[in-house]
Amino acid sequence: MKPTESTVEGRRRLLGRNLSIAYDAPVKIVRGSMQYLYDEAGRQYLDGYNNVAHVGHCHPRVVEAGMRQMQTLSTNTRYLHDTILRYAERLTATLPEPLRVCYFVNSGSEANELAIRLARAHTNARDMIVLDHAYHGNTTTMIDLSPYKHDGPGGNGPPSWVHKVPLPDLYRGRYRADDPRAKEKYAEHVVEVIKTTGRLCGFIAESMPSVGGQIVLPPGYLKLVYDSAHAAGGVCIADEVQTGYGRIGTHFWAFESYGVVPDIVVLGKPIGNGHPIGAVITTREIAASFDNGMEFFSTFGGNTVSCAIGLTVLEVVEEEKLQAHALAVGAQLLKGLRGLQQHHEIIGDVRGSGLCLGVELIRDNEPATKEAHRIVNALRDNGILIGTDGPFHNVLKIRPPMPFSTDDAAKLLGALQTALKQQ
Ligand code: PMP
Repeated sequence: MKPTESTVEGRRRLLGRNLSIAYDAPVKIVRGSMQYLYDEAGRQYLDGYNNVAHVGHCHPRVVEAGMRQMQTLSTNTRYLHDTILRYAERLTATLPEPLRVCYFVNSGSEANELAIRLARAHTNARDMIVLDHAYHGNTTTMIDLSPYKHDGPGGNGPPSWVHKVPLPDLYRGRYRADDPRAKEKYAEHVVEVIKTTGRLCGFIAESMPSVGGQIVLPPGYLKLVYDSAHAAGGVCIADEVQTGYGRIGTHFWAFESYGVVPDIVVLGKPIGNGHPIGAVITTREIAASFDNGMEFFSTFGGNTVSCAIGLTVLEVVEEEKLQAHALAVGAQLLKGLRGLQQHHEIIGDVRGSGLCLGVELIRDNEPATKEAHRIVNALRDNGILIGTDGPFHNVLKIRPPMPFSTDDAAKLLGALQTALKQQ
């Protein structure tokens, strides 16, 4: 038995069977360093999609900050400590007014859960609007709010308080780029839902829907939707779990690229660079509504070690100028991918910004799911890791750790060209 086979067998025996494993030939990673991963045999893989390791796998400064704090103190928010304040101060400084009050938890799912509690406390309403194909987390309420899950295998559809509107996908969606009123038409679906619900709890969306297929929302869409949601008494939640911290290059937060300010921002994945941290940032007004007599406490949320790590990740993003780096390398990737599109009919669309990119593959105008699967596996065999996204798993997702360099981009483009020629 190969070492990976015995590990797969062990997982089958010991872990829940519905954990998925990437790639036809599973990869057993034992070490990571910046944008590279290493398997048991010491083979190096270029990481093109694990955005959780935002500033790089095992970034030495982040590791050092965690180690130092673990040696000193690991405790919770019931005791006074300055690191949480330095972290909250630095985090809120990246956000526009009036987003000034932070809550810390341990995952993106938990952060979204808390965001819904804040929204309910503020509005006294329950009805939520979500985008089709969205994913917001693995907890009970988040499955309710995630069409990607509740409309998929094993799902039981949405509960009555969840209202799904079409994903504003200008490439494959209901209204497309050739329709000059596409954004208004998508936004009108939100207005239609509000007519049936009356007072609204809120609207939640990723600022660039990732599971939906690395979608860039039509300019102006979020503004129309936020205005409608606000007029109905609702709050607007931006799920920036995948898209924040400079990843899109042009802005620190993806919502900023649409000229809107959410009422609640939800963070996860990259903010701990692999350490489990989630955060919710909201307005003083919403925080006051939530402060209704019931204590809020998370045993591990905001613990001293997590805050030391979270603060260091933020410092590294800023000091290493990773946002500008993402913009430059992203531009190189976009140019290269659009060049490949000229020669390969299978590339229907190239989209995204910075190091948050999607390449939609099509065959005879239909999603090229099998081809996407083959390409991702061929790249893996070539030592480059990317994945697929989208309702049909036909969108190549490229979301590497931010230190991903121009040389890495050239390597990825070259390997992709080879894989495309084999289709
Ligand atoms: N929101 C979005 C947009 C996500 O992609 C995810 C995880 N893929 C979550 C929330 C949930 O985060 P976690 O898995 O850390 O609970």
